[in-house]
Amino acid sequence: MNKTLSVSAIQNGTVIDHINSGQAFRIVHLLGLLDKKYKVTIGVNLPSKTMKLKDLIKIENYTLTNEEANDITIFAPNATINVIQNFEVVNKVITSLPASISEVFICPNPVCITHSEPVNTHFNIETQGKQVKLICKFCEKEFDRNQVTVKI
Ligand SMILES: [Zn+2]
Repeated sequence: MNKTLSVSAIQNGTVIDHINSGQAFRIVHLLGLLDKKYKVTIGVNLPSKTMKLKDLIKIENYTLTNEEANDITIFAPNATINVIQNFEVVNKVITSLPASISEVFICPNPVCITHSEPVNTHFNIETQGKQVKLICKFCEKEFDRNQVTVKI
């Protein structure tokens, strides 16, 4: 395991590991990390024994809220989230898929009312086997997690 390698480099903060490859930047947008000016290190397509390739995000001097940690599982169901203090893992955050998510996503349906009215988007989240589906509250259409885009 290259776990030590992954978590040893920051003194304090949060390490999000075992992110499905290709999803790291979506999570960075989802959490609004660029706007918040945190020092963020992103690794993409890193070798992983369990996933072949994985992405990794290290956020210095910030601990994710439970809500943020749960939101990550929409894009990265197998993510491991470790809180680091003085280079040691002090907490492994237990996540669960949220039942719904508001505001952060744009509805992929071009005729959805959310594009023309000043309303916050809202998606209910359901799992079908290993698939995560997002259902728009307004147009009631169902989308794969890879179809929705994060508002920037
Ligand atoms: Zn919609």
